[in-house]
Amino acid sequence: MKIRTMLTAAIALALAITSAATALADEATVAVTSHPADAKIYVNGYYKGRSPMTVTVGSATDEAQDYTFTLHLPGFKKWQAPVSLSAGQNKSIYAGLERLPSAVAGRTICIDPGHPSETSAGTSGPSGVSENHINWVIALKLKADLQAAGATVVMTKQSEGENVTNRRRAEIANAANADIMIRLHCDAAPGRGFALYAPDRQGTRYGVTGPSQSVIDRSTAAMGPLYDGMKAALAGTIPGRGTHGDSGTYVGSRQGALTGSIFSQVPTVTVEMCVLTNAQDEAFINSEAGQAKMVAALRAGLESVFGGQ
Ligand SMILES: [Zn+2]
Repeated sequence: MKIRTMLTAAIALALAITSAATALADEATVAVTSHPADAKIYVNGYYKGRSPMTVTVGSATDEAQDYTFTLHLPGFKKWQAPVSLSAGQNKSIYAGLERLPSAVAGRTICIDPGHPSETSAGTSGPSGVSENHINWVIALKLKADLQAAGATVVMTKQSEGENVTNRRRAEIANAANADIMIRLHCDAAPGRGFALYAPDRQGTRYGVTGPSQSVIDRSTAAMGPLYDGMKAALAGTIPGRGTHGDSGTYVGSRQGALTGSIFSQVPTVTVEMCVLTNAQDEAFINSEAGQAKMVAALRAGLESVFGGQ
């Protein structure tokens, strides 16, 4: 027993030395970890940094006081707890962050990876990256992300090379009674950045006039928050080129609306994710990091669309 007592005393002494080395007389430290990591840490409302980190509290006194620790991470519930600290103390706290329910949970989202169709096989970038391939890759990643968030996802294509007419794409979204159809494309245009299109008036194709005014209104209403959510998430990567009517596109200017919009009975927004004919945009969308950013941006946009309803 005597040996154990001596050992305990030695450990206590070692701990005391450690404390003395890391905290000044009026300081206390708190090692903050969280799951997931990278949450913003505030102490009594003052920003300290991101988890994991050791926070130094400079105003600790001999008498213990409560400090309010708050952790913020987008998509997670705010975490808050009082931590009692006195001068010279070194504590650790762990925050298991609770995910907020997603606004896309329970929604049916139709993802339409653009091309090949009756009109076009799609564009390609200066170094040969194919639009069809990019649309497909992003669609698969977005599908996985939305399903993990509790959404039902319907795809208009089952394989990268599958040729589906634009009319058929709309019919697939209609049959699923999708809450929205997101049509993924990459542009061939001057400049760079992403742009959104929604039907702004009726058009006619194969003798059919559409979409209904309700679909025009709901598509336009969805496009704004989708764009804002994407723009915020893509800040510092690729710029936004704004929201536009289908009638501003080449096909839309002749038909009144895109064929996929004319036949759509659900809200539909076409996303030109980047200007693929621009070398910078091509490099962005062809990289793992760029694709992850784009998927996160589409998800953030959809959260805005459904969170606002
Ligand atoms: Zn396209």
